[in-house]
Amino acid sequence: MSSAVNKQDLYSVIAELLDSIDVAICVFDREDHTLLWNATFLHFFPEHAGRVHPGESYRANLERFYLGRLPQEERDSIERYIDEGVDRHRQQTRPFTFTHRGRYLRVGSLPLPDGDRIRVWQEMGRDIGQVENPPGWTEFPIDLLEYLADGAMVLDKHDRIIATNREFRILYDVDPERSVIGCTLHDLVQESWVRAGAPERARQFNMLERMRFAGVPFEVELPGGRWRRVIAHRTARGIGYFTHSDITPLKQAVSDLSAIAATDSLTGLANRRHFDQVFDEEWRRRQRDGTLIGLLLIDVDHFKQVNDQYGHMVGDACLRRVAHVIRGALLRSGDVAARHGGEEFAVLLPDTGLSGAQAVARRIRAALAQEDWQATHPDLRAITTSIGICAGPPASGATVSDFVRCADAALYRAKNDGRDRVMESLLTPLEGGSVSL
Ligand code: GH3
Ligand code: MG
Ligand code: MG
Repeated sequence: MSSAVNKQDLYSVIAELLDSIDVAICVFDREDHTLLWNATFLHFFPEHAGRVHPGESYRANLERFYLGRLPQEERDSIERYIDEGVDRHRQQTRPFTFTHRGRYLRVGSLPLPDGDRIRVWQEMGRDIGQVENPPGWTEFPIDLLEYLADGAMVLDKHDRIIATNREFRILYDVDPERSVIGCTLHDLVQESWVRAGAPERARQFNMLERMRFAGVPFEVELPGGRWRRVIAHRTARGIGYFTHSDITPLKQAVSDLSAIAATDSLTGLANRRHFDQVFDEEWRRRQRDGTLIGLLLIDVDHFKQVNDQYGHMVGDACLRRVAHVIRGALLRSGDVAARHGGEEFAVLLPDTGLSGAQAVARRIRAALAQEDWQATHPDLRAITTSIGICAGPPASGATVSDFVRCADAALYRAKNDGRDRVMESLLTPLEGGSVSL
């Protein structure tokens, strides 16, 4: 038997097989590019017919999906919806359901070991039109909701509340005497934010859109740093059964951990990992809009001697002071200072050209000269730094590492020329997209 089955051929066979039982399939590669789909896919999603093509990004696919289904008043949110759709695609671990062009569809997703992802859609029934409260939900024993430990809410097909339990009302600060029947979840969340004096916060929630994908958990923020996790099951008749749980402690722990993971413990500045991540995001943004980036690499001069003469504890105290001075020299909220390693610091200055970056470097060096270093050790009179700058627009074809290498080359020259000074390097794009220092 031949063991080498071509992957593409295998996908084609599966796609054809699924067509025979009216199941749609679309396969994507690890970068979310479309590889293959079947006829049922085009039947469920006719907006893709003649348009979807191999190699197309999932974003492009989602854009068509949304353009065809979003009501006019939600068009402004399309970018956000697409972002969330891409996340749903990447993070899906279990089936969820939604309605599309009158079909009630269930979608499953399976990531393969090589990074490809198969998605399959099955029709579960037809959207039943305009019946307000279709028969079926009333048969649900509402009392049962009160026995659930989580908050529970039943919605009609227009997302209006039919029933809730006591825990739900506690989770959303609803007065026990008040009936919420006919309200939407968004109404209740909005009321909470209005009471907290921040009605604009409620508007950020994509709740309407999130509720359309039953089975995909989503999170809702309430005033006071409180968070709820919501997940739904929807019947083919459109009735939604939602459970709500309090995830505030979990969110708090995750937020504490992310802060710890992003921070250098000695100096309290961003650590290298966080800096690289921010730099990467900033780089991509600047490449899109062509605005400037300034980068400073700051290395303490002869720091080994400080350690050798006064001990490591004094060395540590000096590094904390240098960090404090650097942070104090940054005036814009988007500027990021980080400990780049050992006794080297990095400062990222979005929207800043060479003269701006030089001004920051001068401020840092002037402030360091003013510091009372004898407070760390009576014999320590001064700490100086050498600074390498690279600034300019992110040249097309250049990478973050090119930019860092450019600043590093300037720093190297500052050291070689006698330390205690600032040097700049320019990143020059060459013909053909490569970059020289
Ligand atoms: P140069 O002017 O060429 O930069 O000389 P230097 O001595 O600063 O550079 P070198 O790379 O030779 O030494 C760096 C020193 O920084 C050595 C290392 O012990 C010290 N260092 C790095 N991280 C820490 C730290 O967390 N605490 C302390 N106290 N010292 C550190
Ligand atoms: Mg040094
Ligand atoms: Mg160094």
